[in-house]
Parts: sequence; C-alpha cells; structure tokens
Amino acid sequence: MKAAQDIFTEYLSKQRLKMTPQRRTILDVFLNEEGHISSEELYNLIRKEDSSIGQATVYRTLKLLAESGIAKTVDFNDGVIRYEHKYGHEHHDHLVCECCGKTIEAVDHEIEHLQKELAKKHGFVLTHHEMYLFGVCKECQEKSE
Ligand SMILES: [Zn+2]
Ligand SMILES: [Zn+2]
Repeated sequence: MKAAQDIFTEYLSKQRLKMTPQRRTILDVFLNEEGHISSEELYNLIRKEDSSIGQATVYRTLKLLAESGIAKTVDFNDGVIRYEHKYGHEHHDHLVCECCGKTIEAVDHEIEHLQKELAKKHGFVLTHHEMYLFGVCKECQEKSE
C-alpha cells in the first residue's frame, strides 16, 4: 500500500498544487491523531508545531485531504464537522451518544449486506453509505438513574 503522503502529493499535483512544508506538517499531525478531529482542534495542535500556519490553511488543507481520499468528514449532528482517517482504514459506522458526545465505531456485516440488498431492490448500485445511530450511552444511562 502506498504511503498516505504519496497519495496526497499525487492528488495535489493533479490539482496543480504543491506539497509545501505547511501542508506536510498538517498531514503529519492529522495522521498522528486517531479518532475524530475538527478543523479547530487540529489547528490547535498544529500551532504548537508551526505557529506560522494559520487556521484558514488548516481548514483548506483538511478539505484537500478529504478530496484526496486520505480523510473523510463525519457529522455527529452537533454542528461540528470532524474528520477521520479514511485511507488504509476499514469502513465503519458510528454510534453517537447525544448526552456526552461519545462515539463508538462499529461494523455489522449483516447490516452492511442488508444495505446492499436494499439498494439493489431499488435499482441502485451502492457507492458508499454513512450510518449514524444516535442514542444514550451506557455510562450516561447509569448517571441518570
Ligand atoms: Zn454518553
Ligand atoms: Zn469514525
């Protein structure tokens, strides 16, 4: 498998953009973070590495990372768009706690299969899907008892 850095460099050159040291730093910091991160959270980490990188650059670079397939956006319905690793990561869906905001990543092969069947039934060829299950996590249920 190609390194994420190479994928991004190739994508940039197709867009007639260059892999600058700033973009490289943003990519590396992003790749070091597991989980889901907003543009603002990433900016706060990057600031510590290189204070010359502005918030708008982080925002734009994250968009490029998503377009290149390195990252994807996740939306937990709280008004914040977050990014997670996509390249080299298996597809997963999310369970989201509406009380504390905790997210759980999960895959159920039966549900995956059923989604394909459902699409087929309607004459669709499935390209991708997003499944978010919203609810209250175990800890939050216990707290409210
Ligand atoms: Zn919770
Ligand atoms: Zn995730």
